Amino acid sequence: MRDHGRVRVSTWLQGLGFAVLASALASAGVEAWLRLRRPVVLTTPTGAAVGALPRGITPSDLNLLIITLDTTRADRLGAYGWREDATPALDRIAREGVLFEHATSPAPLTLPAHSSLFTGKFPPHHGVRDNGGFFLDERETTVAERLKAQGFKTGGFVGAYVLDRTWGIAQGFETYFDNFDLSKFEAPSLSEVERPANEVADRALAWLETVKSLRFFGWVHFYDAHSPYAPPEPYRTRFADRPYLGEIAFVDSQVARIRAFLEAEQLLDRSVIVVLGDHGESLGDHGESTHGFFIYESVLHVPLMILAPYDALRGRRVADTVRTVDVMPTILDLLGMHLVDAVDGQSVVSMMTGSVRELELAAYAEAVYPRFHYGWGDLRSLTSGRFKYIEAPRPELYDLAQDPTETRNLYDSRRALADRMAAVLKAMETNGGRDVRPVVDVDPDARTRLAALGYIGTFAPTRSGGGLLADPKDKIELFNLIITARERLHDEHDSEGGLKALREVLSKDAEVIDAWVMMGNEYTRRREFTRALECFQRALALKPDYDLAVFNMANVYRAVGRDDDALVAYQRLLALDPRNAAAHQQAAQVLVDQGRLNEAESELRRALALQPAMAAARNTLGALRLKQGDVAAGEREIQAALGDKPDLRLAHFNLALRQKNGAISTRRPRSTRTRSNCTRRATWPISTSAKCTTNWEMEQNRIAHFGPPSIATRRSPRGTSFLRNCVSIAVSLARRLSWRAAASS
Ligand SMILES: [Zn+2]
Repeated sequence: MRDHGRVRVSTWLQGLGFAVLASALASAGVEAWLRLRRPVVLTTPTGAAVGALPRGITPSDLNLLIITLDTTRADRLGAYGWREDATPALDRIAREGVLFEHATSPAPLTLPAHSSLFTGKFPPHHGVRDNGGFFLDERETTVAERLKAQGFKTGGFVGAYVLDRTWGIAQGFETYFDNFDLSKFEAPSLSEVERPANEVADRALAWLETVKSLRFFGWVHFYDAHSPYAPPEPYRTRFADRPYLGEIAFVDSQVARIRAFLEAEQLLDRSVIVVLGDHGESLGDHGESTHGFFIYESVLHVPLMILAPYDALRGRRVADTVRTVDVMPTILDLLGMHLVDAVDGQSVVSMMTGSVRELELAAYAEAVYPRFHYGWGDLRSLTSGRFKYIEAPRPELYDLAQDPTETRNLYDSRRALADRMAAVLKAMETNGGRDVRPVVDVDPDARTRLAALGYIGTFAPTRSGGGLLADPKDKIELFNLIITARERLHDEHDSEGGLKALREVLSKDAEVIDAWVMMGNEYTRRREFTRALECFQRALALKPDYDLAVFNMANVYRAVGRDDDALVAYQRLLALDPRNAAAHQQAAQVLVDQGRLNEAESELRRALALQPAMAAARNTLGALRLKQGDVAAGEREIQAALGDKPDLRLAHFNLALRQKNGAISTRRPRSTRTRSNCTRRATWPISTSAKCTTNWEMEQNRIAHFGPPSIATRRSPRGTSFLRNCVSIAVSLARRLSWRAAASS
């Protein structure tokens, strides 16, 4: 019995064991099954629970795509409440991902804003305070550099020259599509220094095709919404009376193309997509037509949306304020990467998941443009919670919750609060900040051309010592007038209208240096050299070390044959900026023409030491050698110049005439009063480069004789057929000139 009982007990125990085992197995199976069905909830490096990624994908698989929308106000997007269906692709990204209702930019200018985006720092800390004249320092670490170091393929595709690699913003990008050849823009419209969104998207898509099976970081920048507003069809017609909106709608269509590619390649499951504006556009708010001057919400409030494949980041909205400096830390967090460096921004993923509603982030912003360009006061702001304090000659305080359009200044009634915010603002700016001082060492060629376009201004604080500076609020009309002048001159080619606007500016404030320089440039272009000189002199009386005015004035002296004055001016420029290769080269040209060959040679050596590939200097050196009678060396230098710059027309001239005449005339006629004499006065060799103000005339003559640039450059730059071409060009030129002389006599 006992045994029997024991057997029964053991059987029972066995049964129980089986049952336990079976249930354990079952529960393990269920768990495993569940794990498969509902993967582990992932946590980012900063501890935010972001849910799961699609099956088989880990954070270390994720790509990154950043799309920046230049000059795009948040409130013009459907996702932010705009009534029309103008931005379906952006709205869809916002709907499916996380939309930030209150994202704010630290600067209403493209280069400073992008520098903040990529470094996670406010402008005082990365040092880029304005477009042009400032570089993003090599010591800064950009998101592209961080991701490249992790093995990402990196590519940047930009739509405007302000983001050219010249300015340091391309750091970390293995592929960078800028290629803005400013030499094409002799008398351009501003819009020519940008490229439309479809071209940027074409390049970006072609690159994405090559990296789609690798881990990549792509940045696509669409500049179209920047003024002047001229959307292509069908947006031009559909938004005929709202061209700004038309530009945004056009950009949206290009965002749709990029999204469609990612979708077709099944990359949406393994990519984090960030779309944001760099700054907004005033569109008349507070009297400002465009951006750059004020720091009201019209230009600081930008769209920001992040579409990431984590399931806790779907269809969410974040109401609390975030700054665009938070984007970089947030991205790294989403990609599973730790950020060890101290930056101003921080990850906001915890708000994206909804686990945290507020982070109480204080937002810094600034506009130093009024001071850099016009010598007026600059602006700084601190937004904290619902309040925004603006430091200005007449300070401002707004309650953004009650007064989102910033029309009721509470500064006098809430003085204690304003003072507290002012103290925080000061600490934010000075803590680790860099000087508000532009880098002098800008490529002078780029600088001259940009300034001629009205793109960039004085580059240095004016009237910075002593006295209260004018409040930008009191100068907005003047600023708009200057913008009008620029648009008339450069976009509408309305010389009279532009000059009229400039005269009006100067009648209201004769100390607007930029207006004098713009006027001088325009008179130079019109070949009214006496007037041009007067304008540059007025600018220099206000700011004697304004190197751009010195340079332009020197070029005018050169154009009117006052070579001694030109030389003095180039030397003055070199005293201000010894690293200005173009000034060395220009001085050398004058010296060659004056037969001071040894001095010329030492200037050229300096120019070439600074810029070894400077074709114009190489050509001048060739001319100098020819003058010294060293024909072989002369030809070698000129050929080298053509190697660096195949369309360097003066090198073609020199070579052609050298072949035709066998000998080089060394004398330049004294009488060079007008540019129409430019070709005639050009006895050979010519050292005068594109920098000379006669360049425009040279260009016209060259086009008249040789056709568009491609004709000259299409030919092989070396070899006998090339020389034959040069000779035939020279002969045809000589014929034309004799024909012209006959016709005019
Ligand atoms: Zn911009």
